[in-house]
Amino acid sequence: MEKKLSRDTICLQGGWNPEKGEARVLPIYQSTTFKYETSEQMGKLFDLEEAGFFYTRLQNPTTEAVASKINALEGGVAGMLTSSGQAANFYAILNICNAGDHVVCASEIYGGTFNLFAVTMKKMGIDFTFINQDDSEEEIAKAFKPNTKAMFGETISNPSISVLDIEKFAKLAHKHGVPLIVDNTFATPINCRPFEWGADIVTHSTTKYMDGHATSVGGAIVDSGNFDWEAYGDKFSGLTTPDPSYHGLIYTQAFGKGAFITKATVQLMRDLGSTPAPMNSFLLNIGLETLHLRMARHCENAQKVAEFLEANPKIAWVKYPGLKSNKYYELAKKEMPKGSCGVLSFGIKGGREESLKFIDSLKLAAIVTHVADARTSVLHPASHTHRQLSDEQLMAAGVAPDLIRFSVGIEDAIDIIDDIQQALDQI
Ligand code: PLP
Repeated sequence: MEKKLSRDTICLQGGWNPEKGEARVLPIYQSTTFKYETSEQMGKLFDLEEAGFFYTRLQNPTTEAVASKINALEGGVAGMLTSSGQAANFYAILNICNAGDHVVCASEIYGGTFNLFAVTMKKMGIDFTFINQDDSEEEIAKAFKPNTKAMFGETISNPSISVLDIEKFAKLAHKHGVPLIVDNTFATPINCRPFEWGADIVTHSTTKYMDGHATSVGGAIVDSGNFDWEAYGDKFSGLTTPDPSYHGLIYTQAFGKGAFITKATVQLMRDLGSTPAPMNSFLLNIGLETLHLRMARHCENAQKVAEFLEANPKIAWVKYPGLKSNKYYELAKKEMPKGSCGVLSFGIKGGREESLKFIDSLKLAAIVTHVADARTSVLHPASHTHRQLSDEQLMAAGVAPDLIRFSVGIEDAIDIIDDIQQALDQI
């Protein structure tokens, strides 16, 4: 049996295994199309009878290698890249939901995902019930309906930094015969592998820690291969009954454990086209090569910043799973023994106005929409990313009006803390 490589090694060497005389570094296949010798060869690709690259909207060798690396990091059976995290979450749901279907979703999710689900996908006829992820199993179970097709949550929510009890969610999802989809963007597979806790599908905004350097927007979907679509064939007919756009092919029969990702690629990517540019996949791969080193430093620095903030009299509250006072401390230790992430949230005594003054006084930490970057960054979600949300929706998403999202980078922690101190001195 082949030796299982550690995640640290996969970061460097996963996905691309050059042979004699081939490039050591994953090449950028900057080509929309791929050559064949006979029309029969090409025809077989279109009928999905043979695997191969033919058009970059569906698959590209650079993109495929990076998808395979992320799949290996998560411990899945198949993965794909998308042009953004939004596209990843959209495809993950749309791959198994039609108009008239329903999804049970944690309310503490990224504002952009919330808009996608509650506004855009609702217009497409897919309905979401948003639940409090910390509620009891009995309470959450009430949200399931006969047309429920999936459950969704974020390992660590953006920006409220709540930790998802993946085991509890997986148990509920499976009891109701649906898969659990987990957005693992903030934890990354370095710190948490949701499949080990029962999740079925994992999504990512690779724009964040995976890329790590704020160069490329991107997303990923990985399938654990564990959900038995055929056991609930009527519910997931898109996977278990003939697809007329491929001469009646049935994904579960033709591709087994690869059914979910194959369908999302050959059907959704073919029709909707949210494909990453090969150049972006290349940059993402460079980022992934240091993910394990960066995550350790992000967590170390964030812990120091969180402890500094907690001890400061001007700070009203701090949320970071690494603090003993945090309600998710034990859960985070169980699901993420190496640390959670570099993002924390806090409020300043006084409220919204003081919070904004503090942010404007920071020098090293930059005000950017982005989060989970190698450089320290800061944002006031109620004024920025979540400004479309009503006060009620803000509170449900765990976003207090004074909440500051602080994304601790991998600079020297002393410099980051000094910057926070000088900004606190201004208020
Ligand atoms: N999921 C999470 C947890 C995010 O934080 C984000 C963006 O911030 C997204 C998904 C959307 O990803 P993208 O901006 O790459 O489309």
